[in-house]
Amino acid sequence: MSSSLRVIVVGAGPVGCAAAGMLAERDIDVLLLEAAPDLPRELRASTFHPATLDLIDRFGVVPEMLARGLRAPRFSYRHRRTGLVARFDLGILADVTDHPFRLQCEQYKFCEVMVDRLARSDRVDIRFGAEVVGVSPSDDRATLALRSGEELAADAVVAADGAASAVRKSLGLGFEGMTYEDRYLVVSTPFEMADRLDDLDYVNYISGPDEWLVLLRTVDLWRALFPVGDGETDAEALSDESAQRRLRGVAGVDGPFTVAHRTLYRVHQRVADRFRVGRVVLMGDAAHINNPLGGMGMNGGIHDAVLLGASLAGWLRGDISEQQLDQHADLRRTMAIDYAMRHSHQNALSLAAPDPHMRQQALDRLAERAADPQQARAYLRDAAMVSAVEAMRPALREAGVVG
Ligand SMILES: Cc1cc2nc3c(=O)[nH]c(=O)nc-3n(C[C@H](O)[C@H](O)[C@H](O)COP(=O)(O)OP(=O)(O)OC[C@H]3O[C@@H](n4cnc5c(N)ncnc54)[C@H](O)[C@@H]3O)c2cc1C
Repeated sequence: MSSSLRVIVVGAGPVGCAAAGMLAERDIDVLLLEAAPDLPRELRASTFHPATLDLIDRFGVVPEMLARGLRAPRFSYRHRRTGLVARFDLGILADVTDHPFRLQCEQYKFCEVMVDRLARSDRVDIRFGAEVVGVSPSDDRATLALRSGEELAADAVVAADGAASAVRKSLGLGFEGMTYEDRYLVVSTPFEMADRLDDLDYVNYISGPDEWLVLLRTVDLWRALFPVGDGETDAEALSDESAQRRLRGVAGVDGPFTVAHRTLYRVHQRVADRFRVGRVVLMGDAAHINNPLGGMGMNGGIHDAVLLGASLAGWLRGDISEQQLDQHADLRRTMAIDYAMRHSHQNALSLAAPDPHMRQQALDRLAERAADPQQARAYLRDAAMVSAVEAMRPALREAGVVG
């Protein structure tokens, strides 16, 4: 390593990897610390939106992700009884994005491709099995304490250590918001759902009188996400009986189904009080979490990493002011609340509103939008996060990310 500026990035999830990429691109030395002994193979996010693919194209990783994922140019809203309600085609955004499709690709694949690239950079060191337990920022340094007892100092720290962020907690920041009553159960199966349900897309939001679900295709599996109410314990929801019953309800055949994975999540909408405290910048789930419907958590976190990674590097180099860095951090916080949290909550309401009349109204509204090209375009600009990236374009320009 040769630069005199060094940033420690905590967490090698999708957001930490993207932040490390942005900093290294700006000739900042990066130490990427990951608590796990190897890259976690998590099956949480599987959707990369068009605007995110445009942003991460700079790392040269998109071709490999395309090779390891599935292009989903269309997505649908369906009703369990009546079938297709509304289909949206991202192709109509081809004039505003280089990637007019959602990429169905598990988040760990992005991390693997990024870590492979970062490991080849002279600017980046990566340490696994390095759990951070606290941070103490001072005027000119930030010092991290590791579980091992070691202390590491740097010019700045990026906290990308996920929703339970040790860095955020150590700074004493609040993480206010709400927790949904329903937990979400994700069940993955190699069973070919397209043989049983007509006209499926790779991304399907399915409404129903008794139970809604999201049905997503990845390269190897169908992943179904179901709500779990308070009548079921965690153990009951995670049982084989629950997975078989739910999959039987979707496919309409008896099974038994091979279940490749099942995970139960609590779902929250929460945001940290601030995204910057002195020399520490929070990004991704460490800074904000939202309902996964619409796939905006990881995508929004990567948008944080692109803007705030560049902005932090610019501030350390003296190219942009502290006030600008703060404005960019505040912008990302506002967007987490007004964009990702608002849209994902709206998506939850359209599928999960307790009143059947409200659910039907939501479906009717979606059908009307899909049928009208102008309305479909406006809807897709938000759903594909194109409008989110446009809203931060002046900040991206200030930080030198776009010309
Ligand atoms: C069921 C489900 C489906 C989802 N689907 C989507 C989707 O399709 N699209 C989307 O955009 N979002 C989706 N999300 C949200 C998405 O998974 C998260 O927003 C995303 O993982 C956040 O990335 P991150 O890098 O901030 O945090 P994480 O992915 O949580 O990564 C944090 C990393 O930090 C490491 N770490 C933690 N603590 C420490 C420590 N103290 N020291 C060092 N390292 C540490 C962890 O091991 C981990 O590797 C989904 C979430 C769920 C639950």
